[in-house]
Amino acid sequence: MHRALALAVCGLLAVTACGDDGATGGDDRPRVVASFYPLAEAARRVGGERIAVTNLTAAGSEPHDLELTPADVDEIEDATVVLFFGQGFQPAVERAASRGGGTSVNVLSADFGLLRGSEAREGEQELDPHVWLDPTLMRRIVERVRDVLSAADPANRGDYEAGAADYAAELDTLDAEYRQGLSQCDRKVIVTSHSAFGYLARRYGLAQDAIAGIDPETEPDPKRLAELTNKVKNEGITTIFTEALVSSKVSETLARETGAETAVLNPIEGLSEEEQHAGETYISVMRQNLDVLRRALGCR
Ligand code: ZN
Repeated sequence: MHRALALAVCGLLAVTACGDDGATGGDDRPRVVASFYPLAEAARRVGGERIAVTNLTAAGSEPHDLELTPADVDEIEDATVVLFFGQGFQPAVERAASRGGGTSVNVLSADFGLLRGSEAREGEQELDPHVWLDPTLMRRIVERVRDVLSAADPANRGDYEAGAADYAAELDTLDAEYRQGLSQCDRKVIVTSHSAFGYLARRYGLAQDAIAGIDPETEPDPKRLAELTNKVKNEGITTIFTEALVSSKVSETLARETGAETAVLNPIEGLSEEEQHAGETYISVMRQNLDVLRRALGCR
């Protein structure tokens, strides 16, 4: 509905829900529903003011196996475009998206060279969804989002191309900072909370040993913990990484038993309210992660 017509109808009916809240009412922009923060950020950067973006994963919660409220399902069914990660990352979103009337896109179906689950859980066969933690693959996400938005709203293709090009340039700069920053380090093994940094490790020549599997819910068994304890001691690993949205109990135990420190390495599955208010973004948190990695690995 055009804005003028929507306002006229709202005036006649005196319907309070017609207020312009950015996603409904008089807003006739394409409605883009993203299943979690990295996709929402990619959509906002590509689409800018041309689109209205909703993130299904609430601030401060982690997106694995996201459960949907009835309002979320309505949001998905009414969306112009739904962006999600399939391959078992968020099955409820995948199911709801298949029933919606708009375009729904499994962004992870592009050619990312997906990794299998880590050794953290015996026989784990899931594909690793954490591609966004490699800036080069984040760029590929952005390009996919650009193509999806351009197809859904061809009149604004030029703006989507410009937004994507700007963000891609920032991601290339970030990639260069990582290459430079991690090129000369004393150590290369990173012990992480859940197995989120496999793509980052692959890109920059690090090796990840995760306490939990690619889903943070998969708790390590005692054998795995004993292995990790030995490895940390034998290889002189100085730092056990924790993350904000997942319990750090096991990481702290491992650090205590080995004399290592803990530090936060953020998998950027979502930003907290505080981070949002402080103006943090994917790029700014990735720069913090680089600082943390450099310190832990003894990089020059
Ligand atoms: Zn994860």
